Amino acid sequence: MPTSLKENKIGIFMLLLIIAYGFSIAVKMIWVYQFQETPEFYWNNALMINTNDGYYYAEGARDTLSGSHQQNDLSPVDTPLSQLTALLAYILPFSFETIILWMPALFGSLIVVPVLLISRVLKQERAGFIAALLAGITVSYYNRTMVGYYDTDMLTVVLPALVLWSLIFNLQEQKNRFLLLIPVLIIAYSWWYGQSYSLNLAMAVTVLLYTLIFERHNLFNYKILVFMLIALSIFPWYYKLVAALALFLAFHYIQKANSREFVFGLLGAAILLVLLTGGLSPVLYQIKGYILREGYGEGVETLKLHFFSVNQTVREAGQIPFETFANRISGHTVTFLFSLVGYILLTMRYRVMLLALPMLGLGFIAMQGGLRFTVYAVPVMALGMGYFLLYVSELLSRLVFPKASEHLKRLFLVLAIFAVLYPNISHVIDYRVPTVFTTQEVEILDKLGTIADREDYVVTWWDFGYPIRYYSDVKTLVDGGKHTGKVNFPVSFALTHPPAESANMARMDVEYTERSFKERFSSNIIEAMKDYNATDINSFIAALGSKDFTPPQATRNIYFYLPMRMMNIFPTVALFSNIDLTSGQQKERSFFYASTGFKDAGAMLHLGNGVALEKEKGIITIGEQKIPLAKFITVEYDNSGTLVKQVQKIHHEGALNIIYMRSYNQFLLLDDKMLNSLYIQLFVLEEYDPDLFEAVILDPHAKVFKLKI
Ligand code: MN
Repeated sequence: MPTSLKENKIGIFMLLLIIAYGFSIAVKMIWVYQFQETPEFYWNNALMINTNDGYYYAEGARDTLSGSHQQNDLSPVDTPLSQLTALLAYILPFSFETIILWMPALFGSLIVVPVLLISRVLKQERAGFIAALLAGITVSYYNRTMVGYYDTDMLTVVLPALVLWSLIFNLQEQKNRFLLLIPVLIIAYSWWYGQSYSLNLAMAVTVLLYTLIFERHNLFNYKILVFMLIALSIFPWYYKLVAALALFLAFHYIQKANSREFVFGLLGAAILLVLLTGGLSPVLYQIKGYILREGYGEGVETLKLHFFSVNQTVREAGQIPFETFANRISGHTVTFLFSLVGYILLTMRYRVMLLALPMLGLGFIAMQGGLRFTVYAVPVMALGMGYFLLYVSELLSRLVFPKASEHLKRLFLVLAIFAVLYPNISHVIDYRVPTVFTTQEVEILDKLGTIADREDYVVTWWDFGYPIRYYSDVKTLVDGGKHTGKVNFPVSFALTHPPAESANMARMDVEYTERSFKERFSSNIIEAMKDYNATDINSFIAALGSKDFTPPQATRNIYFYLPMRMMNIFPTVALFSNIDLTSGQQKERSFFYASTGFKDAGAMLHLGNGVALEKEKGIITIGEQKIPLAKFITVEYDNSGTLVKQVQKIHHEGALNIIYMRSYNQFLLLDDKMLNSLYIQLFVLEEYDPDLFEAVILDPHAKVFKLKI
């Protein structure tokens, strides 16, 4: 059916490659175009990144460039992405901000390379070209490689797709001279992405099965396996590279090395090597974590303490509906189904495409294990789509319009390609992701960086951990990767309890966290209880609020970073410490409701969601319930930016309070516990004991307080 390019020359291939790559970049420019005139998304004259995790790698790159970082500051200077970024920032004339902004799109769009290379092996470059246009911008792939999505995703699909190409290429060519591509690419992929092992191993198993079923007597295929296994072994990459190179030279120059006995001997040795060095355990570990969803890596239980599990709030690892799944992989359900048919047709004609099954399978695991895997299926399904369109266009011209001109076939292809790309481009246009922070927030963090020492801690919710470490170069207790129930508990406690208790908890947790890097405590709280001779956790925690409690000796400064951005997640923040640590039972939840869509209707003030205030009587109605209002507090900034407060006491026995944050156009309805919490007292009301706290930055977007104990 579909045929190869008439001119199968390298020049045309390069041209297709450049067009497909340019197309992917051009589509990714849409986001830049949409926000280029949004000044609050800029920092250092570049748009800021739009993924929180990116700040983790940015911190590592910054520290790699500067050549040093603080002990235990969790800076990932050893990660490949940080190192690659540092290298690029060192040699290129662009700003660091510009580099991290563009890297994801420039590297991610390289997916067109393996897609076109695979199609070239099959002599299906035209299908490959269609596939390349699609692969770079398909919904899930776009989301993970868009401009500003600075994360390891930029190469986590490109590299295994290149490995896949090297396998298909070698199986097709059957020539010693190309064998070295396999270990080099597998080693590069393993270096880039630590969890690559399962996919690599699955590809090796697929090569083995493929060989046993179809080409049992083909000695060359066993050589492929030997090279794969060498690359998969646990030894450092340079040893593996040297071993692969030596073996490659042996195959090339020594005739005897190509004998059956030698190859099978090598294969046996390589299999034993991988198995004996724990070759299967990483796979079992991942299966356990992702498929069975056994909260892996999460220390839910420490000794006798029960913490709140993050899994209880994270929704990513859930089952997803088929339509979402199909849209993610192909942009549209119809495209998805045709792509699947195309892949089957492609595999029927080119058996070697069976090698793509592990990548396809990993993408399909998303049905069970969460959306993050869909990207793996994208290049394979795109190839399926490209082949499907050419296949159908051939069918049409042969069966339906046998006499019709070549033009009709071309017209069909152009229209079909447009139809396939359209839902994806339309997604790109609608996907107006904001930057993680705004310029005003970054200005605050930048200023904090000049005030705080690099050894100082900033206490805030984990969502802000990475960006704060990047912009302020300080230490944090929790961040985007360190937020188990155990480490979240003290932070949640410190943000949601009265300032005096919170101050002691923050000091205690910072000092024990720093000690724990050396002494390796299983839990800071348990360790503190030992030092304070406490036996009961509940009374120990209660004692934090008393005047007699002496916090540990301060070894550094602690700052609280309290952003307006935390308002909407404040109830979630509270969940992590609103728990009885001995039983794991949630305590009665505090009442906290932040309303922005309010309406003043004379006698009634409507706060949305069926919540209203009867102004005359001072009664809150929530649905059918009527609750007397205790306090009505109004806060606003005057012309000089100073916070002005007005407190009206309404009912002595009132159970709920209203705070009207006039400058923010926001109402808060909250119980006494939330009203007395550190976040509300310090951020909203600027109410604090000057013996405990010192205001360092008072900006409406975020406030920073220094702990004075
Ligand atoms: Mn640091």
